Order: sequence, then C-alpha cells, then structure tokens
Amino acid sequence: MAIQVTDLHLLRDQLVLRRQKLEAAVTRSQTANMVQLLEQVDQALERMDTGGFGVCEVCHDAVESGRLFADPLARVCLDCMKPADQRALEQDLELARSIQSALLPKQELSAAGWHAAYHYEPAGLVSGDYCDLLTHGNDLYFMLGDVSGKGVGASMLMANLHAMFRALIPSGLPLEELVARANRIFADSTLPTQYATLVIGKAKPCGEVEICNGGHLYPLHVTQGSVRAIECSGLPVGMFHDQEFVNTRINFSPGDSLVLYTDGITEAHGADGTEYGAHRLGAAVKSANSHTPRQMVDACVRDLMAYRASAHKHDDQTLLALQFTPVQH
Ligand SMILES: [Zn+2]
Repeated sequence: MAIQVTDLHLLRDQLVLRRQKLEAAVTRSQTANMVQLLEQVDQALERMDTGGFGVCEVCHDAVESGRLFADPLARVCLDCMKPADQRALEQDLELARSIQSALLPKQELSAAGWHAAYHYEPAGLVSGDYCDLLTHGNDLYFMLGDVSGKGVGASMLMANLHAMFRALIPSGLPLEELVARANRIFADSTLPTQYATLVIGKAKPCGEVEICNGGHLYPLHVTQGSVRAIECSGLPVGMFHDQEFVNTRINFSPGDSLVLYTDGITEAHGADGTEYGAHRLGAAVKSANSHTPRQMVDACVRDLMAYRASAHKHDDQTLLALQFTPVQH
C-alpha cells in the first residue's frame, strides 16, 4: 500500500529531527558514514517535497509503507532490492522471528484452576499479534491483542506491549488502572498512528474472570450449549494519553471456556471470497466445548483451514482458549 499523506507528514517531522541530531554529530566528529547519511536524509526530504518519496526508483511502484516507517531512506521496493541487500533483510527478519517466538508463553498452561492453550500464526515471518499468559499470586493473567500495521514495525510494538505488561502485572494494580498506565506509556512511546486493540484479563480460582477490553473483538464465553460474546469494549490502547478503561466481571462454571481471537481469524477469506466470520467461529467453539482447550483450539484452527482452503492468508492469526477446570474435592 502507498504511504498516506498524514503518515508522510509524520515521517517528515521525524526525519527533520533526526537530521538535526545527525548534523550536530557531524559537527562534533565527522565520519564518512555520517556525511553519507546526511546526504541520504537530504535526498529523502527532497523526495518528500517533490512527490517522489515512497516511489521505487527501479520499477516505479510504491515502496512498502511498513518499510518506509522502519527506514525512511529506503529507495527501492522489496522486489527491486539487490540480492545481497535482500539476504541481509531476510537474516534480520529471521532474527526478529526467533526473538518474537521466544516471547510467547508455554503452549499449554494450568494455573489457578484454569487450563489455557493457544494458536499463534504470523502472516509473514513476524506477527503484530500479542498473546501472553502469566500467573501472579493466585490468579492467571491473560493478554491478547493486535497492533496496528504489519510486519517488523508491528512486531516491535508487540514486544513493547509484552514487556510492559510483564513489568506492570506484579504491581497488583486493578486491571483498569493497569491498562490506563500501559496506555500512557504506549501513547508516549509510539507514533500517533500506532495503537493496539487488546484484551487483558484475570482468571481467578473461584471461577470469576475480570476483563478489560481496549477496543478489541469481544471475547466469547462458552457454556454447555451456548456461546455468548462479552460485549464490553473501550478505546484501543495508545490512541489518547488520558483515556480510561472499564473492568467487567463474569462468573464461570466448571467446564465453561473463554475464547479470545484476533481479526485475522474471523476476517480470513474462504475460496469464494467471503469471510470466515464470528458466527462460524462461535459454532466451531461450541461444538468443541466438551474438549480440552488444546483440542478446542486445534478444532477451530482445522475448521478455519478447511474454510480457507487454498485462499491466501493475509493477516496474523491468534486464538486463545481458557477453560475453568477447578480441582474437585
Ligand atoms: Zn521496485
């Protein structure tokens, strides 16, 4: 996708700031690399002013906007990069992929009378989806989100969210305050066009679940025979510095499940071009409810894959299921 005008203004401001720093550094101690970078920055600024920015110098197609955010000095599209540069980029991506997969929680986790399992599948090498599980005190915390944008930029924001919540949860703050604090940090540390939808929740040994939803798709409460969307949602995280969040409490009976997912699941296209949809996901979840969370997640993924058939996958897909399985005395 070509770069948006608002994004272009943002990038220009950022680049002008970086140019000032570069110029100051050149005055202190000049290196050949600095001089070369300064030239490249000036050329990029000139392209921004004359309309040539973001246009591949070789094929004249648009340079990928995600890459321009990561590297505003990029002058050719991915297809037109020299093989050596392409290899270097692939190596960087591979490293980013292994860093990201190390951030994921264990595939299955039992804590606080709950059993959790998930499926995490990036569209490319890295994902902008966020998924984490963490025990603190007697509770099991779960997080699932979707960062704006795709690729490396989005995966960096995902890592940012991961670190932030891991640092904040041990503070024991109420959920809504936890998210409000994370929101302020996130809003301060990202570009104005970047935000994340996310659900953070706390599952307790008594079966009560607290949920705080920042603009994300409604989680599903699956009981024997019914699937109900937990319809409570505020603004995405990182949009405004001082936004507030609300907490919802739901009681789960033994055997009930909670299912969270990203839009890569429900907006996946079938061979006929139609979307998989929340309704079909609900049906898949319902028919697998007597299974373990692992089996439930796997059944949903199989159903989705059968629906998608040979259709191209264009978004990151994440599905998380938690089941209340208290130890019976
Ligand atoms: Zn090109």
